[in-house]
Amino acid sequence: ISETEEAMREAKNKRTKTVCTYCGVGCSFEIWTDNRHILKVEPTHGPANGVSTCIKGKFNWDHVNSTARLTTPLIRGEGGFREASWDEALALIARRFTEIRQESGPDALAFIASSKTTNEEGFLMQKLARAVIGTNNMDNCSRYCQSPATMGLWRTVGHGGDSGSITDIESAGLVIGIGTNTAESHPVLATRVKRAHKLRGQRLIVADLREHEMATRADLFVKPNPGTDFVWLNAVSRYILDQGLEHRGFIERWVNDFGAFRDTLHDYTLEHAENVTGISQDTLKQIAHEIVTADGTCILWAMGVTQQMGGSETSTAISNLLLLTGNYMRPGAGSYPLRGHNNVQGASDMGAMPDRVTGYQRVDDPEVRARYQAIWGVELPTNKGLDNHQMVEAIHAGTLRTMYIKGEEMSIVDSNANHVDAALEKLDFFVVQDVFFSHTASFADVVLPASPSLEKDGTFTSTERRIQRLYRVFEPMGQSRPDWQIIQGVANALGAGWTYTHPSQIMDEIASLTPLYAGVTYERLEGFRSLQWPVHPDGSDTPLLFVDGFPFPDGKARFYPARWVPPVEPPDQEYDLHFNNGRMLEHFHEGNMTFKSPGTTGKVPGTFLEVSPELARERGVRSGSVVRLVSRHGAVRLPVLVTERVFGHQLFMPMNTQDAAQAVNRLTGSHADLSTHTPAYKDTAVRMEVLNVD
Ligand code: SF4
Repeated sequence: ISETEEAMREAKNKRTKTVCTYCGVGCSFEIWTDNRHILKVEPTHGPANGVSTCIKGKFNWDHVNSTARLTTPLIRGEGGFREASWDEALALIARRFTEIRQESGPDALAFIASSKTTNEEGFLMQKLARAVIGTNNMDNCSRYCQSPATMGLWRTVGHGGDSGSITDIESAGLVIGIGTNTAESHPVLATRVKRAHKLRGQRLIVADLREHEMATRADLFVKPNPGTDFVWLNAVSRYILDQGLEHRGFIERWVNDFGAFRDTLHDYTLEHAENVTGISQDTLKQIAHEIVTADGTCILWAMGVTQQMGGSETSTAISNLLLLTGNYMRPGAGSYPLRGHNNVQGASDMGAMPDRVTGYQRVDDPEVRARYQAIWGVELPTNKGLDNHQMVEAIHAGTLRTMYIKGEEMSIVDSNANHVDAALEKLDFFVVQDVFFSHTASFADVVLPASPSLEKDGTFTSTERRIQRLYRVFEPMGQSRPDWQIIQGVANALGAGWTYTHPSQIMDEIASLTPLYAGVTYERLEGFRSLQWPVHPDGSDTPLLFVDGFPFPDGKARFYPARWVPPVEPPDQEYDLHFNNGRMLEHFHEGNMTFKSPGTTGKVPGTFLEVSPELARERGVRSGSVVRLVSRHGAVRLPVLVTERVFGHQLFMPMNTQDAAQAVNRLTGSHADLSTHTPAYKDTAVRMEVLNVD
């Protein structure tokens, strides 16, 4: 088209800046629209992504205009759900919440915030729980993914966030990816690693069960036995010490508790590690030498590490290794736990946790309590609340009677889904707030229609601690409302008297309560501007997290004596195969948004189970054969895909269809990380029954 036509088209179309609603990389871009039609997604100035997006950010927006959207409140009646007015739905919620609180106390209610909604909405959800109801029973989906990484970093370096910016990773001499399928789960971040690897000679080591794209690109790909990352990491640390290769100067100046850490490494000889992990002693030595000779090492990790019984311990071992080798306090070095959802960092930052309010301030800290009381005018409840995992058990025990879940597909994404469903059935009263009628909503008494990201203003905080604005593109569809308005409606039906008219007012309140966000204002986030926490009152931010030391009283980090927690479901005679699971590039988690996009749904149309060629030969199956997988917790039936991406007796199932998403957690169990209760999704043993070879 001519330049004139192009100019006319630009004038007619609206361009609105937004932030991706999928993974934690935090890509930002402009959405071009004509009325409710999305014309294109144009990345232009994104601080994390520059001019890149992946297929999800570029094409997975059909959910916004889907005819499957919830557009009116629903109330369960005699023959199923019926449409209701907002007034009726809010009045019913207020009446039942009040009755149950009076009968059984505030801790008979529990709240789950969403990692897909904005910071302001996460903040209001925990304010509703704490200030209006009076309970700390409050959590978010970081419990399902990255809580162990946060724990490992709190123990050692004091902040749970990424050490630097995503762009810093490009300047590392060595990148180690452990249990992260980065090219599919965090694609734009992976692009930066691929570029640095190809153009700058950056070294890349990948440790994983499966030979995904990053593994095929790596200079060194190692396949530890399932659940043994802790062992090889500690063996590398011990070898570095034995050889005198540790960074003495850094340790003496910046790290405490060296002796206690050294003592915990006693048993982690190379020989022991080889026996446990299957990684050869020479390879372990090579990893150690790569780290100590690299000009900066970044370690990236994700669910392969955290979704284990010892996820917190392995995350701690990663940070210990980085401290041992002086890999903090400079760009191109440090720890990078890769956050899953677009705002999982923000949901935790906002205090949607059972023992912390905003900015990870302890709910039992007298100074924090005084600050909150001064602004909210109420005392915070003091007891530690229930996390997601404990909520399920408390329902089964009869002590938790009511839940209010915002944008979280708990009955699909929590492990041991049959057990979760049985709990949700038992609730006396259950409110679900979502964009679609989710599987979880099918258990609800009231379903509230929420707006997706393109229908609201607010902020998200990405994996690199970057706070960014998103702007409303469309009016809410039907009677749906932005989550912050719905929560305010619930609070006011309970008599709270909240008067927010715009999310910027909520952010002002967050800033006044939260040192990490002290200098955050909407003006400072205008357009493509962004801030990385901690943000100081004068508006200066912190791209490199550790500059003048670590957030402990003496400014020093700490080696933490972690211990190995072996897998609880190693394959045995009855359940002889290891079952692994994860994402594919085109889809996101339970798929409530991406499965509504026909273009990308067509890219990976069927459910399948990845089986290694050797296992296929052993069991007499081929691609297309149908098998039944049976674990200690459930059974599913699915077709086989024989592929060299998986090895030996290890299976992999992607969550790429509605059926697959619903099936995965019928197999996983309730066992969880010992410190944080993150489900050990990656620690599941199954047996495979062949139903049909063809
Ligand atoms: Fe969205 Fe993540 Fe893809 Fe960026 S990399 S476009 S944030 S899904």
